[in-house]
Amino acid sequence: MARGKSIWHLKKQAGGYATLTLDVPGQAQNTLGRAVLDQFEAFLEEIEKNPPKALFVRSGKESGFMAGADIEELGSSDADSLKALIDQGHKALNRLEALPCPTVAVIHGVCLGGGLEVALACDHRVADHSARFGFPEVQLGLHPGLGGTERLPRVVEPATALQLMLTGKTIDARKAKKLGLVRDAVPDRHLLAAARAAAETGKQKRKRGLLDELKYTLEFSSPGKRFIANRARKETAKHFSEKHYPAPYALIDLFEQETGSDDALEAEAQSFVKLSQTETAKNLIGLFLRREALKREARRSKGHDISHVHIIGAGTMGADIAMWTAMNGFTVTLQDIDRSVIAKAIGRAHKWMDGKPDHSDDVRDPEDRLIADPKGDGVRSADLIIEAGPEKAEIKQKIYDGLKDKLKSRAIIATNTSSIRLETLAEGLPGPNAGRFVGLHFFNPVTKMPLVEIVSGEKTTKETQARALAFIEAIAKLPLPVKSAPGFLVNRILTPYLLQAVKLIDEGCSPEEVDAAAEDFGMQQGPVEVADTVGLDICLEVGRVLARDLDHVADPPAQLIEKVEAGDLGKKTGKGFYTWSDGKPQKAENEAGPKTLEKLQERLLAPLYEEVRRVLDEGIVASEDHLDLGAVFGSGFAPFRGGPCTALRQKKAAPSSPPETPAKPEEPAKADMSEEPKEA
Ligand code: NAD
Repeated sequence: MARGKSIWHLKKQAGGYATLTLDVPGQAQNTLGRAVLDQFEAFLEEIEKNPPKALFVRSGKESGFMAGADIEELGSSDADSLKALIDQGHKALNRLEALPCPTVAVIHGVCLGGGLEVALACDHRVADHSARFGFPEVQLGLHPGLGGTERLPRVVEPATALQLMLTGKTIDARKAKKLGLVRDAVPDRHLLAAARAAAETGKQKRKRGLLDELKYTLEFSSPGKRFIANRARKETAKHFSEKHYPAPYALIDLFEQETGSDDALEAEAQSFVKLSQTETAKNLIGLFLRREALKREARRSKGHDISHVHIIGAGTMGADIAMWTAMNGFTVTLQDIDRSVIAKAIGRAHKWMDGKPDHSDDVRDPEDRLIADPKGDGVRSADLIIEAGPEKAEIKQKIYDGLKDKLKSRAIIATNTSSIRLETLAEGLPGPNAGRFVGLHFFNPVTKMPLVEIVSGEKTTKETQARALAFIEAIAKLPLPVKSAPGFLVNRILTPYLLQAVKLIDEGCSPEEVDAAAEDFGMQQGPVEVADTVGLDICLEVGRVLARDLDHVADPPAQLIEKVEAGDLGKKTGKGFYTWSDGKPQKAENEAGPKTLEKLQERLLAPLYEEVRRVLDEGIVASEDHLDLGAVFGSGFAPFRGGPCTALRQKKAAPSSPPETPAKPEEPAKADMSEEPKEA
C-alpha cells in the first residue's frame, strides 16, 4: 500500500462485499491526480489478490463522486510527465475494468471528467437524484484522456456520446438513466439497495433492447461513425475554428478511428498531451484557475448574511435579476411603479423556472420565493435592496430617498447602474447608508452572462464590498471587484473597441469586413453586430458619457450619430449597420483577404488594449488576472486567448511579433457594451 495520508479507504463488508471510498484529504471535492492514482493502484493490487464478491466504488465527500482531474496539476505538467500520468491512469482503469468481481460505481453529486471515466471503467453505475454527469474537458481545450473517448461510446449511443463530449454539457441522473449511462437513478435512500441489485447481476453489462441494439450497431460501424463524425465536424465548424479550438476536432478524429484496443487508448493519450501543450489549452486552463481563485476570494469573507432581497424596478434587468436570485435560494420581493410590469416579470420568471432544477436547499419552491410587491413593503425586512430603475440619476436618488426610514440597520443598497458614478448617486444618502451603498452591475442577458461587477464608491465600506462579493458568488455568478469610474471595467474597455469598429466603417470598410476581422481574432461576434444588437442609441449614449468624463476619449463617430438620428437603432428597429430579419443580421460575404483582416484587427484592438493599460494604471481592477476575467466573462473577449492582458503578453513573447506595444489609437472612442454584451 502507498504510504502517506489515506486517500482511498477499503472496507470489507458482510456477505463478502467490499467498498472502496475516495476521500482526498483537505479538499471539498475529490479530484484525480498523481497521488490518487498511486494509492488506487496499491488498493487494486490488494483487491486483485483477494477479490470480494463485488466491489462498490464511491466517494466520501458530500459534494459528490469526483469533480474530474486536478486541473492545477494538469496545467503545470510538462508533456512527458503528463504522458506518464495518463499512461498510469489508463493502466489503472484497465485493471479496474478487468477485476474478476462485479464492480459498481455508486454515484452522488458531481461525477465529471476523470470521475466519470472511473465510473465508466466499472461494470455498473447507479446514481441518486443529486448526481450530475459530464465531460467538461473541451471547455479547457482538451478532451477526455482516461479512456472516456473509448468507453463512453460503448455505453451510450455513439452519436449521443460524441455530442456529450463535444458540448461539455452536464446532464442529471434522470437523463443519464434515459441514455443508459447509469443502470438506476434512485432517491438517495435507495442508492445502496440499487448498488447491491446491480452487483447481483454479475459482470455482464446491461443488455439493450432489440431496436436499440440495432441502432447502436449501425452507429458503431465504421460507415456509421464516419457519418456521425462528418456531421459533427460540419456542426463544430459553425461555432469554432480549428485554428483557435483544436480540441473538438481532435475528439472527432478519435471517435472515428478503430476502437477497442490499446492502440486506441494510446491515440487518446497522445492527442490529449498534444492538446495540453497548445496555447489554447494553457489559456483556457489559466482562465479556469483564475476564475476559481476569484470565487475562493469571494467565499473567504465572513459571508453575506443576506436572505431577503428586495428589487426595485422590474424592467429588463430587475425582472431577470429577481428571477435568478429567487432561483438560487433567496426570498425576493419585486417592486415597480407599474404593476403590469411586475406581473409580466413574474409570469416570465415562472415560465423560465418551470423545468429548471432548483439548486437551493430551501424547501420552498423558487416560484414561491419570488413575490410581487408593488407597494415596496419588502424594504423593511430586506437585507439587500437592488435598485434597477431607469438610468437617470434623479430617479435613482428619489428611489433611495424613499428608503431612508425603512431600512434594516445592516441592509445593503445596491444599484445596477451601468454608467452613473456611485458618488453622484450616493449624494443624498446619510452617513452609514452611504457606506453600505455599492454597485452590482449585472450584464444583459442576466441568465447567460456569468460576470457581475461589484462597484465600490469612495464611501463603500470593505465590509459591504465583501458581503456583496459573497452574495454574488452565492447566486452562482462571478463577482469582480471594480472601482467606481466611468464605464467601470467592462464598458470602459469595450466601448472604444465598438466605436473603433464604427470609425472603420466611416473610413470606408464594410461592416462585414470589420466583423470578419474580429471573428478571425476569436471574438464570438463581430463588434458591428454587437453594436446593432445592443442598440446603436445605447452605444451612442455610453460613448457620449465616456467622452464627457474621460479627456482622452473622442466624440462618437459620425455614422453612429447619423444612424441614431435616422431611427436606425439596430436589431430592435430591424435596421442598423445591418438589416435584420428573423433576429439575424443579413450579411454579405466578406471579401477581405487575410492581410487586410490582420491590419483591421490591429486597428480594432488598439483602443481596447490602450484602455486596458489605463484601467490598470488607474487601479480600477486589482490585477491583470481580474482584468482578463472581466473581459472574457463580461464581454466575450476571445476566451482561448486568456483575456487581453494574457494576449498582450503572448503577443510580445511571440518570436515574430512586430512592435513591443500595440499602436496607440489615433482617436480613442466610447460605447456601452454592458447593455447587452456578447456571451463569453
Ligand atoms: P427598464 O427601463 O427596462 O426598467 C426600469 C424599470 O424601472 C421600469 O419597469 C420602470 O417602470 C421602473 N421604474 C421607474 N421608476 C421607478 C420607481 N420610482 N420605482 C420603482 N420602479 C420604477 O431598464 P433596464 O434596462 O432594466 O435598466 C435598469 C438599470 O440597469 C439601469 O440603471 C441600466 O443602466 C442598468 N443596466 C441595463 C442593462 C440593459 O441591457 N438593459 C444592462 C446593464 C445595466
